[in-house]
Formats: sequence, structure tokens, C-alpha cells
Amino acid sequence: MRHHHLAGIGIGPFNLSLAALAAPVGGLDAVFFDARPEFRWHPGLLVEGATLQVPFLADLVTLVDPTSPFSFLSYLRDRGRLLPFYFAERFHLPRAEYDDYGRWAAARLPSCRFGHEVTGVRWNDAETAFELTVAGAEPVLADAVVLGVGSVPSVPEPLRGLVDDPAVPVLHSADYLTHRNALLAAESVTVVGSGQSGAEVVLDLLRARSTLDGLRWLARTPAFAPMEYSKLGLEQFTPDYTAYFHGLPEAVRDRLLPAQWQLYKGIDTETIGAIHDELYRRSITGPSGAVLTPGVEVVSASTVDGGVELGVRHAQQGRSATLRTTAVVAATGYAETPTGPLLAGLGDAVHRDQRGRLVVDAGYRVALDVPGPLFVQNAERHTHGPGAPDLGLGAWRAAVILNAVCGRTVHELPDRTAFTTFGLEDL
Ligand SMILES: Cc1cc2nc3c(=O)[nH]c(=O)nc-3n(C[C@H](O)[C@H](O)[C@H](O)COP(=O)(O)OP(=O)(O)OC[C@H]3O[C@@H](n4cnc5c(N)ncnc54)[C@H](O)[C@@H]3O)c2cc1C
Repeated sequence: MRHHHLAGIGIGPFNLSLAALAAPVGGLDAVFFDARPEFRWHPGLLVEGATLQVPFLADLVTLVDPTSPFSFLSYLRDRGRLLPFYFAERFHLPRAEYDDYGRWAAARLPSCRFGHEVTGVRWNDAETAFELTVAGAEPVLADAVVLGVGSVPSVPEPLRGLVDDPAVPVLHSADYLTHRNALLAAESVTVVGSGQSGAEVVLDLLRARSTLDGLRWLARTPAFAPMEYSKLGLEQFTPDYTAYFHGLPEAVRDRLLPAQWQLYKGIDTETIGAIHDELYRRSITGPSGAVLTPGVEVVSASTVDGGVELGVRHAQQGRSATLRTTAVVAATGYAETPTGPLLAGLGDAVHRDQRGRLVVDAGYRVALDVPGPLFVQNAERHTHGPGAPDLGLGAWRAAVILNAVCGRTVHELPDRTAFTTFGLEDL
């Protein structure tokens, strides 16, 4: 079996960042596997006009190593598009461009192997290393493993059965583009969920549907609220805040995260503005026909006469109603990809907290009763806070992990990353 220093499972932006930052490290033998045939970044939501929610500097490498050949600017140079980008003055990239940039970088990293799902990780005592079972390839050994398996669509219980049934026009927003034409032609469409994805789907339907009659947007939140984007508020997406959050007691962390929902569940103000603009434009000759109602929860769902019947409850009014719709888009977010099946081979050696979540230290290392280090990327929101899925923290986390794997500082990191002093100990 090939024995590598480092093996990464999943090649989304975060392990791709690790692969790019690992590439120049002499003597480091790293390999990364992804089940998909190539790098794809949320292909079902590359809606026209949709942009990243973070500046282009949150690429795979720049916030740690701006000289890296895998930076977004290097990609533009290679594509001969630096000058158009300069004149475009775009701080937030089109999502489709980030997707293309990821594929460009992955194609230049021989350590990245696509089309290979890792189906199991176990500890091989004889080899004193992790052993990975890789679909379509020989098992490999690795001294260190990094899980970058990302997230999966999350669907609330009442809608789950219908989303899973391909014959019923109920889908998760992750598959929006696949069903877009059918949704444009549908007599009525109900979008559920007030996050960025829900807003982008509604905006696209507002722009592209010939009639807005039957277009409904429902959300549990009391309002269609903006994402926190103030400069000091965004310091909660810094390594300083991450370290502070990690140092809090588990119960405090579990209380704090849901309260910080506007850091990761709101809608960016530009999209909110564009939705209002579109409603304004479509109401020049009379009411637009679109219905937007916050504070409503979907409590039941069933198919009736080829359509869908939703049972909804308005929390503040304490009232219930039944809505008929032709199709439903559940823009209801994502959950971390379960790691149980993948790590089953390690059995009880994996430490989990009372809620079954991985116990992860400040350096992203999972508490484990085997000698080798197992790290996670974007499976540690419960220990490291709202920044876990944030692209802006990706390069930093990858560098922390790489420095640990190499047992030396291969990428220098600054001591201080925020103006805010989180916690009393630093006062
Ligand atoms: C629509 C959308 C837009 C977003 N926009 C932004 C944004 O603008 N700014 C921002 O900061 N964040 C954004 N995020 C959040 C976050 O950055 C992304 O979710 C990001 O893709 C997370 O990267 P990842 O590497 O953790 O996982 P993913 O991108 O989910 O990739 C995980 C990969 O792991 C692979 N995989 C899983 N299990 C296995 C296995 N067993 N074996 C092999 N491969 C496996 C999958 O095939 C997949 O390719 C967005 C999220 C979504 C859903």
C-alpha cells in the first residue's frame, strides 16, 4: 500500500486549499480523494448574477500566502483576464467564476484524485498509520488524515419524504438549476427558507417567470433579514474570534451559535435590494402577484391531485392554514456531512461529545485514541464557531493543520487578526 504523510478526504474548497498550500512543501507526500469526477462548487446554485459572499481574497491561498501560484490573481493571469478584472472592479466574484477557479487549481495539483470515494478509515497497527479504503483504487496508508467532506442538503421533516420522491415537484435549493425550467413553467411555486439560497432562488424566479401569480416565499424567521456584514461584526470570522469561541464552555457555545444566526443565515443586502427592485418593477402595471410571508413554518406536506398541499403555522398569530402549490423549493440549508460511517472503522477510538459531535481541539485535531492525527475542516462549527464554513478562514485553517502535520512552521501566521479583543484574558 502506498504510504503518504497526509491524506485528505473530500476536495471542496477547504481541502483544495490544503492541497494548494501543501504543494510547495518539500518532502511532503500528500494525496486527496473526492467522490466526484471533478471539482464542482454547488453546481445547482450557480444562478446567473449570484456572487460570493466574501471578497476574492478569500481564495484558496492568498490570506496565508499571497505569492502562491494557486491564487485567484494567478488564475486570472493564466486565463489572460487580469486587466478585465482590474477594470471590472469586482470585489465579490460571480459564483460560476469561483467554480471555474477551483477546477483550474485542482487540475494543477497532482495530489488531487477525483472519482474516488473514501468509504472507510481505520487504524493499521502493523503500519502505525491510518488505512483508507478508496473506491476504485488500492487502499492507502497515511500518517495524518484530514476530513473535508463538507455539507449535505438539510430538509425539515415535513418535506423530507417529498424531496426524496423524484416524481414529486419538491426539491432542495441545491438542485435548483436542474429543475429551473420546470419551475418557470409551473402554475405556482413555493420557496421555503429565508437564507441566501432562498433569496437567490426567489430573485431568479421574480426575474424570469412570465407571471408572478402563484409565486410564494415562506420563512420561519420573523423577517427576511440581512446578513450581518458590518466590519466589526465580521471580526467574528477571524482566527482570534475562533480561538475565543473554542475556549468557551460547551454549553455557552451551544447557546451562542443559534443566537448568531444573522452571521450565517441572513441574506446579503444587495440581494434583498434586488428583490425589492424586481417587485417594484413588476408592480408598475398592478399588483405583482408574488406573496412573501415571514414567521410561517411548514408543519406538514402531502401530494394532492399532482400538486402539493402544505400545512403551515404562523407563530405570532398562532394561526394555521393549508396552501396548495404546484412545486416547492426547500431552501432550508445544509448540515455537516455525517462522519459516522466513514470513521466506523476507528470505533470507540473517536471521542464524541454528549450530542455525538466530534471533540475537536483548537488546532482542528479530533480527540482520538490512536497515535495518528485526524483533522477536520468545516465539521467543527460546534467547537470553533460560525466561521467554520467561511471561505475567508479556509486558508488559515489549512495552514494551521499543515504546520501541525509537518511539525514545523511551513506557513507563518500572524499573532493578531482582529481589532476587537474577545474575552477578558487579553485585556
Ligand atoms: C450555495 C452555497 C454558497 C456558498 N457561498 C459561500 C460564500 O460565498 N462565502 C463563504 O464563505 N461560504 C460560502 N458557502 C459556505 C461554504 O464555503 C461552502 O459550503 C464550501 O463549499 C464548503 O467547502 P468544503 O470543502 O467544506 O465542502 P464541500 O464544498 O461541500 O465539498 C466537500 C467535498 O467532499 C466530497 N466528499 C464527501 N464525502 C466524501 C468521501 N467519503 N470520499 C470522497 N469525497 C467525499 C464531496 O464530493 C465534495 O466534493 C456557501 C455554501 C453554499 C451551499
